[in-house]
Amino acid sequence: MKIVHLPEELRGFGGTTAFVPTMGALHEGHLELVREAKRQANRVVVSVFVNPTQFGPNEDFARYPRNLERDSELAGGAGADVVYAPSVETMYPAGESTRVQVSGVTELYEGAHRPGHFDGVATVVLKLFNQVRPDVALFGRKDLQQCAVIAQMVRDLAVPVRLSFVPTVREADGLAMSSRNAYLSPEERAVAPTLYASLRQAVERLRAGVSSAESLEEARRAVSAVGFEVDYLDLIDASRFVPSAEGNAIVAAARLGRTRLIDNIEL
Ligand code: AMP
Repeated sequence: MKIVHLPEELRGFGGTTAFVPTMGALHEGHLELVREAKRQANRVVVSVFVNPTQFGPNEDFARYPRNLERDSELAGGAGADVVYAPSVETMYPAGESTRVQVSGVTELYEGAHRPGHFDGVATVVLKLFNQVRPDVALFGRKDLQQCAVIAQMVRDLAVPVRLSFVPTVREADGLAMSSRNAYLSPEERAVAPTLYASLRQAVERLRAGVSSAESLEEARRAVSAVGFEVDYLDLIDASRFVPSAEGNAIVAAARLGRTRLIDNIEL
């Protein structure tokens, strides 16, 4: 396993490459992507880059956890061949003035609550694709709207890469693994699984014939009752990311203290 910092150092490999973009602070969710990547190609490249352009001015860019040594060890242990850790200057050279803007699927939900977030994501992912030149790139379904955004960009810009979306890895109590879970106080961590539990209950109610409006409202109530501030909790069409009474996913984002958690369940 080698750690490189420049795109030139990724060149000259003959086999197939699977790529896992991350912001580091790796956990079992990321490592599952790495293991799956190893099954899909000869070489696995994991990028570790805390991308400034996808954070809003009042978000956690400055305090986002950074530990390249630990991340490299974990990634290597899961099967990564290369950890690519570019600097901000490498990814955003002086004078850069181009952004990738995907419309439609970015309009609501994360796109509405985090203005500019998906422009930052699409831009950095396209740059990383151009540097790594992977045959396949893997993303987690935990960030379901991000999957839709990347899929739209790849189609629209004819990016020569295959996409693979991996199921959400969860803690034993159902909480979706996330680097941001580290921000939770013990009290917050104890109630955090309610987010996913309420999504599951909503699915059960829908299956039992309860209306989507009532099922969703009950889930919002359950999440709020343990102290979450709900940004959204909605039944959507996951290909377009718009509300739909016959939707195929429930997506949610909610804040617990100063930590914002997202989750979803696909029907
Ligand atoms: P991040 O470092 O948060 O940007 O995440 C990097 C990649 O890991 C993204 O494709 C995420 O969707 C994915 N990911 C993060 N958490 C999980 C999880 N719990 N299960 C599966 N994939 C995840």
